[in-house]
Amino acid sequence: MPRFKEEEIVRLSQSMEGMDAEQIVGWAMENFQGRLAIASSFQVEDMVVLDIASRYGKVRVFTIDTGRLPQEIYDLIDAVRERYGIQVEVFFPKPESVEKMVREHGVNLFYKSVKLRQLCCWNRKVEPLKRALEGLDAWITGLRREQWETRSSVRKIEVDKVHGNIIKINPLADWTWEQVWRYVKERGVPYCALYERGYMSIGCLPCTRPVKPGEHPRAGRWWWEQGNKECGIHVGGE
Ligand code: SF4
Repeated sequence: MPRFKEEEIVRLSQSMEGMDAEQIVGWAMENFQGRLAIASSFQVEDMVVLDIASRYGKVRVFTIDTGRLPQEIYDLIDAVRERYGIQVEVFFPKPESVEKMVREHGVNLFYKSVKLRQLCCWNRKVEPLKRALEGLDAWITGLRREQWETRSSVRKIEVDKVHGNIIKINPLADWTWEQVWRYVKERGVPYCALYERGYMSIGCLPCTRPVKPGEHPRAGRWWWEQGNKECGIHVGGE
């Protein structure tokens, strides 16, 4: 059972807005231990959140292996297991859903239309996320407001209405890109090798490319599409 009522979280959200990432992660670790996990796609922000949490004790980390990830992410998962001594909980899409989708629309369906791209994201990411969140009272993400327009109003603590009113904690909501990298360099936090090759946001291999100087950091995600650069995982908070 969630430990906090919705109105309490709304109140907490207002009062915790001025708290820093360490304080918020510490609060989460204290209040939700065992029923709290970091959702990591092994973006550099996720690595910062994991590193902060590791200072408060053992933390659960889950990820979704879409089946289309770059090798560099798998290498990082192994590095994380070693560095932090944790078992990363890996969730996979339902085989029958992926098999049906690929049979009907082809293996590279995402390039054909936005609708088919969203279908692929649904089967490979959104549905497994629902399973990953079952049994949790709270999850932590590496979302930042400056990442994309749809994230500009992200709160540090939100009620996640899409996933059964559990708590969604975004401790880096007000961090800048520069702050993230300063933390990574100062603490020697491992990160995905693709950042050294011009990538600024990393997702599935066929749907991500490096960005050119001056381009928006998320321009490399689904670069053939205009508009919304979201897969559907981060929708419907407060
Ligand atoms: S990012 Fe691309 S390959 Fe990955 S789930 Fe979405 S559409 Fe499919």
